[in-house]
Amino acid sequence: TEQLLTVDNLRVSFHTRAGENQAVRSVSFRVGAGDTLGIVGESGSGKSVTAKAIMDLIAAPGEVLGGEIRFRGESLRGLPQKKWRQLRGNRIAMVFQDPMTSLNPVKTIGYQIAEVLRRHKGLGKEAALKESVNMLRKVGINEPERRVHQYPHEFSGGMRQRVMIAMALSCDPELLIADEPTTALDVTIQAQLLDLLTQLKQQSDTAIVLITHDLGVVAKVCTRVVVMYAGMVMEEGTVEDIFYRTGHPYTQGLLRSLPQRGGANRERLVPIEGSPPDLIDPEPGCPFRERCPYAFEKCGELPPMLETEGDGHRSLCWLLEGGKRTLAQALEERG
Ligand code: SF4
Ligand code: MG
Repeated sequence: TEQLLTVDNLRVSFHTRAGENQAVRSVSFRVGAGDTLGIVGESGSGKSVTAKAIMDLIAAPGEVLGGEIRFRGESLRGLPQKKWRQLRGNRIAMVFQDPMTSLNPVKTIGYQIAEVLRRHKGLGKEAALKESVNMLRKVGINEPERRVHQYPHEFSGGMRQRVMIAMALSCDPELLIADEPTTALDVTIQAQLLDLLTQLKQQSDTAIVLITHDLGVVAKVCTRVVVMYAGMVMEEGTVEDIFYRTGHPYTQGLLRSLPQRGGANRERLVPIEGSPPDLIDPEPGCPFRERCPYAFEKCGELPPMLETEGDGHRSLCWLLEGGKRTLAQALEERG
């Protein structure tokens, strides 16, 4: 598929009193047109920082120190603000975790969606309001003709998130970046929103980058996955690669800590022991080695990104050195 977004060796640090926090140390991945890519990892793994860097939203004390970000081949780094205004919210849209911070409390929902449509699509006032009603209906909000005149506080959290999705999609973006869009919501509403995303996805070619700490969410919605840890990509592959041909010990840990549907495996839930490394002056070597059950001598050196199995499935782990294979195969060989 044609590459829509490519991120190569992205590095982002935050300058703090305690030193340079290397939040994103080396992140590379690509998103093809129409892909749904999940970026998964624990909090502090650098997922949101990566998303913000793509959107040019890193502000001091944060700084993008290196790397390339390309959208349809055009470099986004150092793009003038004027160009960004044409891209952001238009060709690249973003949905954040807390819609309350992105909605204006004193403007009606309809007015706010209409604003986006007027600004980006050049619709007149009436046409824009009419289209906002359509958008609300499309994201599953009942009685949209009445709802369109209400204010954000009259909407529930789940409904506000639907509004954010409606606003983000109102301009038919080529890329939608959604940062934990369901995290603040209860499980039922979460499931409904994910169904909505999947549905909307089938109706358009908008590519989605979905950021989440939840592999279960990824399994539901995504076609491809990037697993992040300590500011680095540990594994990248299709959903099937990640779930059935796991390459990285950290991914394996995440899978084991995932509640199984039906609860059959509930008693075998194994949280990953320990905590992620400090990213101020991080130790050299594999960032996962303090928590990795298979760590060996070589892990004191930073592992290379190795082809795990087939096309585009890669893992950052010394165990996979010397030929394509899954983690299970590598462990079996080692006995
Ligand atoms: Fe574990 Fe070593 Fe692989 Fe890191 S490189 S994940 S420590 S086996
Ligand atoms: Mg985050």
